[in-house]
Amino acid sequence: MDLHTQQPAATSGEHVIVVEGLKKSFGAHEVLRSIDFHVDRGEVVTIIGASGSGKSTLLRCLNLLEEPDAGHVWFHGRDLTSEDVDVNRLRRSIGMVFQSFNLFANKNVLDNCTIAPVKLKLMSKREAEATALGHLEQVGMADFASADVTRLSGGQKQRVAIARALCMNPEIMLFDEPTSALDPEIVGEVLNVMHDLAQSGMTMVVVTHEMAFAKGVSDRVIFMDDGVILEEGSPRQLFSHPVHDRTRAFLSRYLDDRA
Ligand code: ADP
Ligand code: MG
Repeated sequence: MDLHTQQPAATSGEHVIVVEGLKKSFGAHEVLRSIDFHVDRGEVVTIIGASGSGKSTLLRCLNLLEEPDAGHVWFHGRDLTSEDVDVNRLRRSIGMVFQSFNLFANKNVLDNCTIAPVKLKLMSKREAEATALGHLEQVGMADFASADVTRLSGGQKQRVAIARALCMNPEIMLFDEPTSALDPEIVGEVLNVMHDLAQSGMTMVVVTHEMAFAKGVSDRVIFMDDGVILEEGSPRQLFSHPVHDRTRAFLSRYLDDRA
């Protein structure tokens, strides 16, 4: 990796995250082939693309769950790929919601939300509980605060996972196919929560196959294809006037399947 750690002047300002020349391989398989993009404060960016195109790997590079092979990831102007970054501190500022919820099965809903802020000494137990109840209210799960998470539906679990991430007071939320594991009739309750979060001004990057959400909620849509960003633009541009044949083919497949 080169030692160019100065964020380019053209990319400073209201950018929360700037990615430049990001590459990642697993063995001989180059999964990310020089990715450049940025996310501005308050922006909702959705990433669409076929399975295997590198969407999850890209998200995971943003909070260093994967270490990039080359390129830079700037978070508020700090180069995360430089060596002196406090990874734990960074991850507190970047909320992540996974397809598979990743809740602690042996803890109730409230404890799931308070364990990290208390353990990291960010808040007292009492403050953490008050904060958690506020976020559980926000996702419509306050009545379940003392419920065992194993008894919840998938949609309820995912809403708790979102509340839990919010309890860390993140500056940006990353969602990796948050509704892909859910029954179709439950998807909407999670998308509604994400919609409200977007309306509240949260900066979000959302990998999804929910094209109606991508169209209706995002400020910008990125189409990934085989490790590159093939095309990006406003939802209107990308869905109504895709430039590339591969974008058109992907979209027609989705719109046919899901219509
Ligand atoms: P997407 O989220 O778009 O489906 P991924 O980023 O999960 O794509 O994966 C892109 C490619 O990288 C896939 O071919 C996948 O098999 C491969 N890959 C992802 N993670 C690993 C890993 N830890 N080890 C080896 N290959 C991986
Ligand atoms: Mg994925």
